[in-house]
Amino acid sequence: MMRRPRCLSLGVAGCFSFVLGSVPAWADPAPGPQAYIGGTTVGEQKAVSRWLTETYAILGSESFHNNLKSLASSHPRIWLSSWERYRSPAQLSKILKLQDPDKPKAWWVPTAVALIGAPDKDATWESGYKGNADAYTGWTGYVEDGKPVSAMRIGRVHYDRYVNGNEVEKSCAINTLAHEISHTLSHAPSQYLEYFLDTGGTGPEKPGEPYASYLLGTLAQCTYLQGKGRIKAEELPACLAVFGVDQFKSNSCNDYPDGTPLRQAPPPPRVQTATPSL
Ligand SMILES: [Zn+2]
Repeated sequence: MMRRPRCLSLGVAGCFSFVLGSVPAWADPAPGPQAYIGGTTVGEQKAVSRWLTETYAILGSESFHNNLKSLASSHPRIWLSSWERYRSPAQLSKILKLQDPDKPKAWWVPTAVALIGAPDKDATWESGYKGNADAYTGWTGYVEDGKPVSAMRIGRVHYDRYVNGNEVEKSCAINTLAHEISHTLSHAPSQYLEYFLDTGGTGPEKPGEPYASYLLGTLAQCTYLQGKGRIKAEELPACLAVFGVDQFKSNSCNDYPDGTPLRQAPPPPRVQTATPSL
């Protein structure tokens, strides 16, 4: 059941749209033994609404855009997609504000959001895992006026991070959501052609170069931590390194219990289990 999207205006970043609720059945995997529909309780819907509002506010904040533009030296070029290739941090800031002179008709695609899977991060498929650590966003269909819509499915592990009270884990949840939101920006009028991709194509030319989608997620996370006094402005590069700009190093989310300084060197390297995030 499609509901009309509502539009949330948040200052400099323009207008974002989202619809909160279960993913419509037609957005789920093809019917069969593995088909399922994520459901949310009223309590979850309220928390997810706060999560969305908080994340959109960060993406539209002056501090976020100042942090982005401060990366001109450290990350002079940011990979958007196989087609768009690279942009500078200042150009990426303009893109997010829908002020890209090359793409004047860019727009935020209305997006249905649903939680999926069990809250237990150790859950098996049989006990209700069903993608609880996943996060996906993509095209799902059209509304009555012919405009496309998308759907975002967020695993409950990310939801748990948002609500469990640990500030760093909450910042990771903001990272995940900001990353997924980045996939809802279309550069083509009346079509859903994602501005920022992290699948398909060739990827950045040099190892370690930032993907816009991952950089925006981690930058939102670090801007949040900065706003909470958890890191200082000069610790932004360290924060970006801890959580990643070319992937989301989600294993790091549990490495900083309350009070542990993020400016310290990250823990010894270990195999990163990248959170599925498309
Ligand atoms: Zn992605």
